[in-house]
Amino acid sequence: MDMIEERGAAVWLATRDLRVHDNPALAAAAAAGGGRVVPLFVIDPAIPKPANRAAFLAASLADLDASLRRRGSALVVRHGDPAVEAVRVAAAAGARTICIAFDVSAAARARVSRLAAACAAAGLRLVVTEGATVLPPGALAPDTAPAALAAGLPPRDSYVVFTPYWRRWAATPPRPLVATPAQLAPLPAGVTSGPLPTIADLAPGRLPAPLLLPGGETAGSERVRAWLAGPVADYDTTRDALPLDATSRLSPYLHLGCISAVALAGRLAGRPACEPFLRQLCWRDFYAQLLASRPETAHDDFKELSGGWVDDAQGLAAWQAGLTGYPVVDAAQRQLLAEGFVHNRARMVVASFLTKHLGIDWRAGARHYAEHLVDGDLASNTGNWQWVAGTGADTKPHRVFNPTLQGQRFDPQGDYVRRWLPELAGVAGAAVHEPWKLSLPERAALDYPPPLVDHAEAVARYRARRAAPARVAP
Ligand code: FAD
Repeated sequence: MDMIEERGAAVWLATRDLRVHDNPALAAAAAAGGGRVVPLFVIDPAIPKPANRAAFLAASLADLDASLRRRGSALVVRHGDPAVEAVRVAAAAGARTICIAFDVSAAARARVSRLAAACAAAGLRLVVTEGATVLPPGALAPDTAPAALAAGLPPRDSYVVFTPYWRRWAATPPRPLVATPAQLAPLPAGVTSGPLPTIADLAPGRLPAPLLLPGGETAGSERVRAWLAGPVADYDTTRDALPLDATSRLSPYLHLGCISAVALAGRLAGRPACEPFLRQLCWRDFYAQLLASRPETAHDDFKELSGGWVDDAQGLAAWQAGLTGYPVVDAAQRQLLAEGFVHNRARMVVASFLTKHLGIDWRAGARHYAEHLVDGDLASNTGNWQWVAGTGADTKPHRVFNPTLQGQRFDPQGDYVRRWLPELAGVAGAAVHEPWKLSLPERAALDYPPPLVDHAEAVARYRARRAAPARVAP
């Protein structure tokens, strides 16, 4: 019996690591199986798949399958509980090891626990490798336990303030890159690949947004290449400009692991002009480590505020449809529906509007985002929503964004608003941010609603509700 026979094959249970390059779980499987890897993706009916993410996932799986086929293998697709299916495929393949990447959500961790139990019962070895972040959650533990205890809080192993996390993060080298298998053995006899899922399989009866980014490692790597070849150097000065659309749009690729966050960070290291961009990748890790240590913050307030939330179904519906009468808010909401994507500055403005001007619970906003964002990510979504709502890891919880001033500052000529609100396309220049100031006949000619709430009154209501001074951010 040769070495390969002795080792047996290994199953790579792909999750949010849909790539062949710098993939620790795939590399671990290749090492354990001596190249005899069974790449497996299990479509878990328990995980909701909104249309945009379903379309991106379907494209990413097709791209991964093509990469694997170029290397002599193929993607095995199954439906069901990943723990059950992985062990079943391992048995069919005569595999002795299952490799999976770590992930932070409660559901992902429950999946690994079930898998560990199933592997133990079947006599299989389980290898859990690093996951989708640059540094693994828990890699940087703050020295805050005594302070937390003194404040009556249970000590936890994550940072809750970004800046000290960023300082340590920037000084800590990530894991070395892992080798990409050049060649893989064909699937063992008795293991069929199974058809790749279509969007109709993943999100039956639902249509994705018309202008969705293409999923997959190939598209993601090309986007990284183009981004690093130029735009990243101007990121610090252009990233907040709404009409320029000058951010990387790498978030959906990072979310599904179509690109490696570690490899991306490595290509930025030592380039001072890239530091502002690197800092954003650190925010992503920050929220991942927060969720890993406090899984309940996916639905519970990280920090409770007095005053509760307002039950306002009409306000929520107007906000969801982009009909609040505040042009920059409505433009962002329409961008979400058209692209499954929204610029970060605009995300902050709309989230502030929902939770502070309308007083609606951040969970309603986070659900709407999770439903439509192609980069919808539990840690980043709930972490950012809580940050804006004032219940999260923010040292200035009562910041309120003034939607008109934000529009005037970050979309000075109104181009972003006109791009997404055809009903305001005829209003020239910055006047588009204040349609209520147009003459009566001009206003009457627009098919656009008046402001849902008055800004000053909404801020006063917020202040009264929270019994706190609202800091209005220009
Ligand atoms: P770039 O500006 O090019 O940044 C590069 C990468 O850094 C991003 O791809 C992303 O991975 C990371 N990043 C940037 N800003 C943040 C941030 N504030 N928090 C965490 N990571 C960040 N991001 C998601 O990936 N998924 C979400 O579900 C999500 N929901 C959000 C909800 C709200 C209310 C807000 C205010 C922000 C949310 N973000 C979310 C963060 C951020 O808006 C997006 O990551 C960013 O807009 C993606 O565009 P980009 O790739 O062009 O970002």
